[in-house]
Amino acid sequence: MSRLFITGGTLIDPERRERIDANLLVDDGVIRAFLPRGDEAPEGAKVLPAQGCFITPGFIDPHGHIDGHTYTGELSLLQGITTSVGGNCGFSPLCIGQFLRNQRSFPIHQAELVGMCALREAAGALDAFAPATPEQIEIMELLCSRALCEGAAGVSLGPGYTPGASLEEMEALCRLAKGFGRPVSIDTRMYSMTDLHSLQEAIELAEVTGCRMIISHFAYQYGVGVEYEALEMLELARERGVDMQLDSGMYKDWCSAIGSALFEPVTMRDNGIELCHLRMATGEHIGQVPDQTLYEHLRSRHPEDAVIVNTGDEEAVYAIQRYPQTMVSTDTGSYAPGEGHPQIAGSFPRYFRRMVRERRELSWEEAVYHTTLLPARVFGFERKGRLREGFDADLAVFDPETLCDCADFPGLGRPDAAPVGMRYVIVSGELAARGGKTTGVMAGRALAAGSFGHEIRA
Ligand SMILES: [Zn+2]
Repeated sequence: MSRLFITGGTLIDPERRERIDANLLVDDGVIRAFLPRGDEAPEGAKVLPAQGCFITPGFIDPHGHIDGHTYTGELSLLQGITTSVGGNCGFSPLCIGQFLRNQRSFPIHQAELVGMCALREAAGALDAFAPATPEQIEIMELLCSRALCEGAAGVSLGPGYTPGASLEEMEALCRLAKGFGRPVSIDTRMYSMTDLHSLQEAIELAEVTGCRMIISHFAYQYGVGVEYEALEMLELARERGVDMQLDSGMYKDWCSAIGSALFEPVTMRDNGIELCHLRMATGEHIGQVPDQTLYEHLRSRHPEDAVIVNTGDEEAVYAIQRYPQTMVSTDTGSYAPGEGHPQIAGSFPRYFRRMVRERRELSWEEAVYHTTLLPARVFGFERKGRLREGFDADLAVFDPETLCDCADFPGLGRPDAAPVGMRYVIVSGELAARGGKTTGVMAGRALAAGSFGHEIRA
């Protein structure tokens, strides 16, 4: 276990939303003490100079698809993310206990939701366009309970990928999550480009079952001219006591597998997505805009290839990030080096650059709250997202003047280019990244729900 002494930086406390001038001693994996400037380095401590830097809790990504993929974990770490919630959009490992046991040594901490699509598949509901039968729902419930017992952080619903999913099957899973005191995330349906029925459906699921409901990547779902109406619906539901939450990223263009239901011709038509909006993010045709022949070839022969959809409105991205309840997310996916969407490497630095430094939409203190304490509360990470003595020493140390994302879309740049300005990232009290490079330390742990507190509140 390392002893680290971080000197000369300014601490940002997301609980009080204030700055503290102090040196920070990290010891045995926890924040040990705030020491006055000028104090000597405690014995045996490695000094990390942080002049000109902010020191904040490590960022918590409420929506990723790292799911044990080491390279993606490293790209998150280099952004200052120290905890990621995986298993989103309905896709997760089925055996959460086994997954968590296998993740003992990883660049960052991982919590894992259990996904509806995985449960459907295991129950034999293989047709994405048909509802699960009552017998299949019973099996899904059994498997979901087992996952929650084994430490799943919650449940993720993916009706966007299984348009046939019925309200009954989603309700059954929401009730289980509620029973365990864990949240539900939902990748809402894509009925049409400007549809809000999908949001109404999610609100009703939360209202009927009493569960905490997180709308996934809000800008990707509603950042097409209906963002204000969508936020208002969410706010009205919250006012009448429905536990609605949301995560959203820093890009207007989303990314998914070309073979998925999202790219069925009818879904594309109803959502106004044309081939000219697509750009391949992985595989042999990376960077290419597919024509009809290539689209059909990829759907049938390379359904796993990822494609970026250039729709959405950039101002909507910022409007959603201004909402006081928004958690910043990456929606990161697992790709080979050089492939993917810039969200895998640029999201959090881009958030601070755009929202705070350039557009002055938020203060540093507010932005740090949105990236640390807010998600910690929503998921019940009791010992994370705070700068307090005795709490987990997951920290991001960055230069607020130079912090900048460098990732770009395939064809324009490298989607996995590491940001600049992130001086240190500390995971469990160990120096995991320094000067934009990983140190090779694997201090991330699997976070089984129950070990980080059952209570969820926000
Ligand atoms: Zn996702």
